[in-house]
Amino acid sequence: MLSLNRQAIALISDHADPAAEIGREEAGGQNVYVRHVGETLAALGWHVDMFTRKVHADDPVIVQHSPYCRTIRLKAGAETYIPRDRLFGHMPEFVRSFQAFQRTHGLNYPLIHTNYWLSAWAGLELQKTSAIQLVHTYHSLGAVKYQSLVEIPQVANTRLRIEREILERANCVVATSPQEQETLRSLVSTRGQIEVIPCGTDTNNFRLTSKTHARTKLKLGSHERVILYVGRFDERKGIETLVKACLLLKEKDVQNLKLIIVGGSSDDMPDGDERKRIENLVDQLGLQESTIFAGRIGHDVLPLYYTAADVCVIPSHYEPFGLVAIEAMACGVPVVASNVGGLKFTIIPEETGLLVEPKNIEAFANGIHRILCDELWVRKMRRQASANVNQRFSWAGVTIQLSELYRHVLAQSIMREQAWSYKMPSINRSA
Ligand code: UDP
Repeated sequence: MLSLNRQAIALISDHADPAAEIGREEAGGQNVYVRHVGETLAALGWHVDMFTRKVHADDPVIVQHSPYCRTIRLKAGAETYIPRDRLFGHMPEFVRSFQAFQRTHGLNYPLIHTNYWLSAWAGLELQKTSAIQLVHTYHSLGAVKYQSLVEIPQVANTRLRIEREILERANCVVATSPQEQETLRSLVSTRGQIEVIPCGTDTNNFRLTSKTHARTKLKLGSHERVILYVGRFDERKGIETLVKACLLLKEKDVQNLKLIIVGGSSDDMPDGDERKRIENLVDQLGLQESTIFAGRIGHDVLPLYYTAADVCVIPSHYEPFGLVAIEAMACGVPVVASNVGGLKFTIIPEETGLLVEPKNIEAFANGIHRILCDELWVRKMRRQASANVNQRFSWAGVTIQLSELYRHVLAQSIMREQAWSYKMPSINRSA
């Protein structure tokens, strides 16, 4: 449904389908971000079209999320899963499909918010042929990723160039934490406009509820000490560090440990390799009895897992933001996380969780141990953690900031246009 009173805008999220199931393949934080931002922007009065690549032949082309918010799946390459490192070659078709959709439906988006570098490329291409305003969110940065990779993919140089171009040529880039802003300035470019606007979480869904109820629902005993991981299977998520930290805790004679690992997809998907590696590690270390691989869990049931946990661990090597941290804290669960990226921004050490050196197994074990052993402190952290998220990271609060940014960018473009047309007569006179 298109309304004449609403300004139409487009969000582009090449590989991260906002209507997809989260936690599988490469579906993670970006999907959640785009979906919630889109839905909340529509509630704020915009008409929001979210564009992504069509991955499955059976998927509908259009998914209507609410009357003024929809996902549109564009043809770009075969309708099958293609890892994002191999998607660049299909982006010209993505741009052509986007333009064809606009033409067919008589739409014109004056503002496009791109997500991830592949969409940034699409945005920069569209900027060449139409008067659009561009806003961009990175979600992941090549300059950071390639520092820790042994095998640099072929597409690396192109990605680094596009990541610099979008910062220098977009109307504004959104950094989701001050740490990401610093990284952009030091590793990408000193030019271009950056606004810090964090990611958010659904505070109606992720909130304080009864731990006893959650444990009963999940068939977990009250005596069990539940350590939770939520996220994709990716080596850079550092699940190995957590598993080894659990072994250390066992060796320290911590009883009734239960490690719950949430996330993952089927075996034939790329995260299947990392999942197998972690499953083998759990076997080798003799932790099978105390580990549960829960698989992918939707946001409808996920709050139960957070609430049932004693501690949520985020052992990532790097996180530009880290949605899992704010989801866990919103449910009142203290977090032990790597002292990196956006986690330094969202977690208040000693008040809502602990930050420890990434990959440091002993530091993770000590952090988890401190939380498991101090009930009074944990009770205090529970309230502080959820209050911190409610104040700083609700989707409504975050999306209002984005909406204001869009209005500002659009207003500036109108002012530029007026200034240009006002100057025209004098230019002509002097000619
Ligand atoms: N997630 C989920 N179910 C799962 C695993 C993950 O819904 O089984 C969600 C999780 O709740 C969070 C997102 O996937 O909203 C992961 O976001 P984060 O920023 O932590 O990591 P990313 O995937 O962006 O690296």
